[in-house]
Amino acid sequence: MAPVTKQYDYIVIGGGSGGSGAARRASGWYGAKTCIIDAGVSGGCCVNVGCVPKKMTWNFASIAEAMKAGKHYGYSFGDGNSFDFKSFVEKRDARIKVLNGAYENNWAKEGIELIHGTATFVGEHEMEVTPKDGSEPFRITAPHITIATGSFPTKPAGIKGSEYGITSDEYFLIKHLPKKMVFVGAGYIAVELAGVMNAIGVETHLFIRGNTFLRKFDPMIQDTLTKHYEDLGIHVHRNHPGIKEVIQLQAATDASDPRDKQLKLIMNDGTEMITNELLWGIGRGAETRGLGLDKIPIELDKTGHIVVDKYQNTSVPGIYALGDVTGQVELTPVAIAAGRQLGNRLFGPPELKDSHLDYDRIPSVVFSHPEVGTTGLTEPQAIERYGKDKIKVYHTKFSAMYYDVFPPEEKKKEPTEFKLVCLLPNEEVIGLHILGKGCDEMLQGFGVAVKMGATKKDFDSCVAIHPTSAEELVTMR
Ligand code: NDP
Repeated sequence: MAPVTKQYDYIVIGGGSGGSGAARRASGWYGAKTCIIDAGVSGGCCVNVGCVPKKMTWNFASIAEAMKAGKHYGYSFGDGNSFDFKSFVEKRDARIKVLNGAYENNWAKEGIELIHGTATFVGEHEMEVTPKDGSEPFRITAPHITIATGSFPTKPAGIKGSEYGITSDEYFLIKHLPKKMVFVGAGYIAVELAGVMNAIGVETHLFIRGNTFLRKFDPMIQDTLTKHYEDLGIHVHRNHPGIKEVIQLQAATDASDPRDKQLKLIMNDGTEMITNELLWGIGRGAETRGLGLDKIPIELDKTGHIVVDKYQNTSVPGIYALGDVTGQVELTPVAIAAGRQLGNRLFGPPELKDSHLDYDRIPSVVFSHPEVGTTGLTEPQAIERYGKDKIKVYHTKFSAMYYDVFPPEEKKKEPTEFKLVCLLPNEEVIGLHILGKGCDEMLQGFGVAVKMGATKKDFDSCVAIHPTSAEELVTMR
C-alpha cells in the first residue's frame, strides 16, 4: 500500500460548486488545512457542462427570439437569420477556461491545496490518491472528509443502442447544429435544451412519457408551458410510448458535428423516426464510482445516493456528503450553501455549531422559453399537506406589454402566468409559481419574501412598479 504522505484537517472530494463552497469556507474563513481532490476540470458540472454554458447558450437563443420580436417592432436585419454558432461556442469555451482558472486562483489564495486525481477510501479517514499526471499513488488522512462528487447524466439501461444518443455533457461539444434533434425526458435539461435548439432553428422533437413535462412543478406551469412549446413549433410527443431501439445508420464526423449523423429510432409501438441527434435528459445518477465506498460502512439509498442527515452527516462519523451525490435538491446554489454551512459547523466558532442548510422554500428557475420560476409548495402539495379548506390560491394570466406590437394571433400565444398558494387564515404565501419573460430575474426578490414568511397582505402592501409584469404579483385579486 502507498505510504501516507500528508495529513489534513479537511479533505474535500470534488472541486465543483459544493466542494468549492465547503473547502473555501473551511480554509479561507477558518484556516483549516484543506485539500480538494478533483478528477475532472475545476468548477465541476455547473461551470463546465451545466449552468454556465447552458445559460450562455440560452442567451444566444434569446437573441434569436429578440430578433424575431424586433421585426414586429419595425427593425429589419438584412438577411436576418444567419449566425455563427461555432464562433459563439468557441467564445463560450474561452469564458469557461477563464472560470476554471478563477476557481483554482481562489483556492490557491485561500490556502487550499488542489490535487488533480482520483481518491479512493482505504479506511474511514484515509484515502488513496492516484494523481492524474501518472505519478505514484499516495495516501492522505483527515478527521473530516466531505464527499461532493456530484452526479452524472444517465442513459437508459435496457434500450438497445442507447449509447448512440448523447447526454447534456456531450451537448456542449456541439459546434455545428444538426438539422433535426430528438430529446427524451421531461425535466429541466430536456426542456431547457429543446427550447434552445428550437429557438435557433433546429427541428426539435421532445418525447415525454406523460401528457405534460416538468411534472414536479405546479400544474399551471406544466399545462401552460407544454402547450406553449407546441405553439413555438417544438414537436412535443405527449404520452410517448418510449424508444425500443436506436440504430446508428451513420456516425457523426466528430462529437462537435452531428450534421451527418443518422440515427433510426424504433419505438415501442413499432413506429420509426430518423434523426441527426438524440439526447437523453432522463435524470442524473450519484457520482460514487471509484470512491471505494464499499470499504467503509456508509449508507446509500436505493437509488445509490449517499444518505445524510440535516447536518450533511453520513452514517460514518467524520464523513459528510452534500450536493447532487446526496440526491437532496440537485441545484448548484444548494450545494454551495450546504458546503458553507458545513464549514461553519465543523471549523467555525461555537455559536455556529448548529449550522445547517434549511432546505425549505428554495427558489429555482427553469431556463425554458419563456422562463419559469418556482418556490415553495405547488398547489397539489399544499392541499395534500394542509387540506383544501386551508389553502387559498391567487392566479392571473395575461399578455406582457412586450408583445403589444405583435400581431394579435401571435400575441395571444405568449403567456405570462402567476400563481400564489396561500395558507389560511393569515394567507402566508407558501408557494409562488411564475412563468413569462423576465421571470428568471423576478424570482430572487420574491424568493426572499416567501422565505421570510410573507403574507398576501405583505405582498399587497408593497407598491407596484409600473409598467412591469412583476407588478401583477403585488396586485392580485
Ligand atoms: P430531472 O430529474 O429534472 O427530469 C428527468 C425527467 O425525465 C423525469 O422527471 C421523468 O419525467 C423523465 N424520465 C425519467 N426517466 C425517463 C425515461 N426512461 N424515459 C423518458 N423520460 C424519462 O432530470 P434532468 O436530467 O432534467 O436534470 C437533472 C437535475 O439537474 C435536475 O433535477 C435539476 O435539479 C438539475 N438542473 C437544474 C437546472 C436549473 O436549475 N435551471 C438546469 C438543469 C438541470 P416524467 O416522469 O414526467 O416522465
